[in-house]
Amino acid sequence: MNSLFTNILSLRRIEYLIINEFWKIIELSPKVNLLAEYSHEVQLGKDVRIGFPELFGVEVIASDIREGKQDNFELKGIIRTKKALNPIYIDIRIANNIKDNLISNQLLIVVEDVTERMVLEQSLVQGANEANLLLRTLTASKQYIDQIVTSMADALLVTTASGKIKTINRTAQILLEYDEAEICGESISTVLKEVDNWKEEIAQRGNIQTPLFGPITPLVKEVETFCQTKSGKTIPVAFSCSKVQTEIEHFQGYVYILRDMTARKQAELAKQEFLAMISHEIRTPVAAVIGMTDILSHTDLSEPQEEFVETIRNSGKALLEIINDILDFSKIESGNLEIEQEPFHLNSCIEEALSLLTLKAQEKQLELIFHRNSELPTLIVGDISRLRQILINLLNNAIKFTENGSVELSVTSRERQIIGNEKNNLEIQFAVKDTGIGIPSNLINRLFKAFSQVNSSITRKYGGTGLGLAICKQLSELMGGKIWVESQPNQGSTFYFTITTRAIKTQLSQQWESEAKASDIVIDTAIAQKHPLKILLVEDYTTNQRMIALMLQRMGYQADVANNGLEALTALRSQPYDVVLMDMQMPQMDGMTATQHIVQEWEPSVRPRIIALTASAMLSDKEKYLASGIDDFLAKPFHIEQLMEVLTNCQINREQINKVIKVNQAESRNQNDLIIDTAALQEIHRIANFNCAVNAKEFVLTTIDDYLQETPKFLQEIQVALSNSNFNTLRRLVHILSSSSATLGASNFAGLCTELEMTLINEMWEEVKEQIDKIKAEYENVEIALIQEREKY
Ligand code: ADP
Repeated sequence: MNSLFTNILSLRRIEYLIINEFWKIIELSPKVNLLAEYSHEVQLGKDVRIGFPELFGVEVIASDIREGKQDNFELKGIIRTKKALNPIYIDIRIANNIKDNLISNQLLIVVEDVTERMVLEQSLVQGANEANLLLRTLTASKQYIDQIVTSMADALLVTTASGKIKTINRTAQILLEYDEAEICGESISTVLKEVDNWKEEIAQRGNIQTPLFGPITPLVKEVETFCQTKSGKTIPVAFSCSKVQTEIEHFQGYVYILRDMTARKQAELAKQEFLAMISHEIRTPVAAVIGMTDILSHTDLSEPQEEFVETIRNSGKALLEIINDILDFSKIESGNLEIEQEPFHLNSCIEEALSLLTLKAQEKQLELIFHRNSELPTLIVGDISRLRQILINLLNNAIKFTENGSVELSVTSRERQIIGNEKNNLEIQFAVKDTGIGIPSNLINRLFKAFSQVNSSITRKYGGTGLGLAICKQLSELMGGKIWVESQPNQGSTFYFTITTRAIKTQLSQQWESEAKASDIVIDTAIAQKHPLKILLVEDYTTNQRMIALMLQRMGYQADVANNGLEALTALRSQPYDVVLMDMQMPQMDGMTATQHIVQEWEPSVRPRIIALTASAMLSDKEKYLASGIDDFLAKPFHIEQLMEVLTNCQINREQINKVIKVNQAESRNQNDLIIDTAALQEIHRIANFNCAVNAKEFVLTTIDDYLQETPKFLQEIQVALSNSNFNTLRRLVHILSSSSATLGASNFAGLCTELEMTLINEMWEEVKEQIDKIKAEYENVEIALIQEREKY
């Protein structure tokens, strides 16, 4: 074997042997013995099979190779020598030792150390196995996570770091009505509109590096908002958002969890509405009890009776307070409480609250102090009664929980930064400071929760529902502010709250003020004498009541005041008015509803003129108002001249009304069982006589004729309405019939109509038919009587 070949072989740890036909070694490479099982047996002249026992058994193949029947043969072996710690893997190849291109009877045995390759192969196989196992584990864990995510009751959306939706779970697909493929790649704000409001917060908090393998804290948690579905529905949801951070960019982004709040909201709403309804139902009779005890207390009572009445009244009042609290609270909770946005005098509001509590403070010999701040705006926009409510509540608590010392109210205002298209650029802060029992620090965070009192002994000693502060919190938040407290046990507490508002332009506020004082404007104080009018002012806000009453006084008018539509109707029924100044937005019964009642109840000739007091924004509804029976408008705040102008326009009706009132009065004076009260007809004649343009007799005759012509039609319509069970129409018809009949003196007939009206109002359907029959029978008498009367003219 030449040395080149030997060198090449040695490069790959390949050794060789040449054996003769008797298996004797006739040539060998120097290190071939190192690859043999028995290395010392590998020597020239020795049988190669002793050193390499693997070669036993290949004799037949060997002779085939020698004879040229087979080219070569390869076999593998492992050598476990004591010297080498690890086994050595060898490949043995046997070939003919060809010389000069001719086969010989010698064999060339090449032995190669393939240990390295074998180890590598083995580790590759092992690696592949491991990878396989890992893959199966991963697949299983993905399935596991997928199944958990799919079975989640909450909707889950995963986005990229830039907010593009990557995956959504089954619940999200159902909730949002999108297939996964449809929504993927869209921005999260497609379905979660308000997410942009949180963008900054999410981004800011998301920037804080959290450990990759730590617990994930949501960036925002259960924020109540709405999501938008594919078909455009908005669904209330609570959403949480967490950041996902891994080392691989692909697995980074945000996870959004949306909880459908529809059912919960509906249940809450139903609960609150029920509470509001029940409280309202209780409030009405309780208010009646208090009212009655008031009246009772002014009658002749013995001393113990007086005491009983006082107890009933006080208990009634306490009960009413609690109910009002519950009503307020449930209204706020159900989102039904609307905060007014009307201009009002801040100072009046504060003083009203203070004046209500002065007596209470005096009784406990506490000083009640108000720190007036000259920089406070005069006229601000907001809800005076709700602001007063918070003040009264805090002042009341301060007095309640203070035995010695003082209660101080301070008010400050500051400019605030406007966000977006907000209008309110002022923040007003109120502080109610007392020197009372204080509140232990560990109980402070319970204070503003509903039905929480510091401890039960407080309830026993001072009473209360624990709703007051919860309501104050809600109200101040509804007014764009917040509430908090600083307190030291046995030293006192300071309750702070803020509201956001804006001051009314000075010009306008001056206008209100100057009008109230009427200092600069020349007003004819004798207007009322020249044009006397009986005015009913219907307005729920004391400040507005005062302001308008003051303007009227300046003109010489003394108006009666009603606080809402219901009170207005009661007042109108008890005596005639020429003009009703009707606020449109009022509790219990608003101006529009009251107007509808007035239009129904009084005929145009006797109806007072209704002047709507509205916010200027409402003037766009002018047409609607006019159609409803409203005669004129005043947009608040208004000038005294404007008020004067609308009142002057009211004069026209005055005389006419007076006449009809007299007719009505005459009617009621002469009410008897006669079929026709002739005094009524005489009165019509007398009234007609006043008017030179008409022939009085003819006027009476036409009136009778018209009536005789109209009434049978009415009776027919009544019959139709009855057979159609159209009770509303029926009621309207008998109402009109009653009043027109009364005008003509058909008192008995009119009485029957009114009776039927009452039956209809009380829904006593079973009596309706019988009463209609009576009315029809009576009409026959009326007809005869009227024809007879007609003859007389
Ligand atoms: P309530 O209607 O029962 O008065 P509030 O919500 O107004 O309920 O007050 C809740 C509780 O807070 C009171 O019962 C009292 O324990 C405590 N509290 C409120 N104001 C004060 C105060 N000025 N000083 C001490 N404790 C107060």
